[in-house]
Amino acid sequence: MMPRLQGKVAVITGGSSGLGLATAQRFVKEGAFVYLTGRRQNDLDMAAALIGDAVAPVRGDVRDLGDLDQLYGRIREEKGKIDILVANAGFIDPQPLVDATEENFDKTFGTNVRGLLFTVQKALPLFRDGGAIILISSIAAFKGIPLYTTYSATKASVRSFVRTWTAELKDRGIRVNAISPGAIDTPIIDAQAATKEGADAIRANFRAATPLNRLGRPEEIAAAALFLASDESSYVAGADLVVDGGLSAL
Ligand code: NAD
Repeated sequence: MMPRLQGKVAVITGGSSGLGLATAQRFVKEGAFVYLTGRRQNDLDMAAALIGDAVAPVRGDVRDLGDLDQLYGRIREEKGKIDILVANAGFIDPQPLVDATEENFDKTFGTNVRGLLFTVQKALPLFRDGGAIILISSIAAFKGIPLYTTYSATKASVRSFVRTWTAELKDRGIRVNAISPGAIDTPIIDAQAATKEGADAIRANFRAATPLNRLGRPEEIAAAALFLASDESSYVAGADLVVDGGLSAL
């Protein structure tokens, strides 16, 4: 079978671990060249070593518009185009409403909403011949989860962007879609607990609440991203693809 992303140039933010890394691995296997971005060059270099040759690890914080300009300037010079953008970088530090801090609010919105918006806006001039933009939302956008006050609100914003940008970009042949993962086993689960026991408890809670009785694997989100990035989803636009083992059905 012909690789599904042959000749395509992709950008994946937050790509040194978890869903971003798995998606980059899948995209490269399908023939794409991937620009992998994240905050730490070391982590990116290690991720790139796992992926192979068709990847460029580029340090960049999505909150820093100068970093985004540098990234896209480099892609303009090297490839002259972007076909696929996966806006995946995300931050969570769970806090209940009563304890929510300004710092937490600003960092969560600064990464998941402001950072994502400018990641997409600044990439647009490089989408020369249509393409696919995939935003990583979450089932937290529409399901009440204790402690997720700020995070859930950012992911609801992402769902909203999908619809607005589908309308705004309709004449450019760019399909904008979201993926809403349920609980997927990545470092972001560990980041939500102070101890290993705490992280184990989070995993156990999500497992118990998920009809398929397990957490998802990053490759299962990568498969959804491949679908939305490829021509197999040529008539899918403005959609939110829920990949959650049934968690949000209950
Ligand atoms: P992860 O921690 O492995 O990946 C998140 C990545 O984002 C990391 O590489 C991190 O360095 C990067 N990042 C954070 N802030 C950044 C910034 N300012 N600039 C650039 N990069 C930044 O966790 P993951 O599960 O792979 O998360 C990927 C996305 O999936 C996130 O948007 C997350 O909110 C979303 N998500 C994850 C789950 C889950 O259960 N794992 C569920 C729903 C949604």
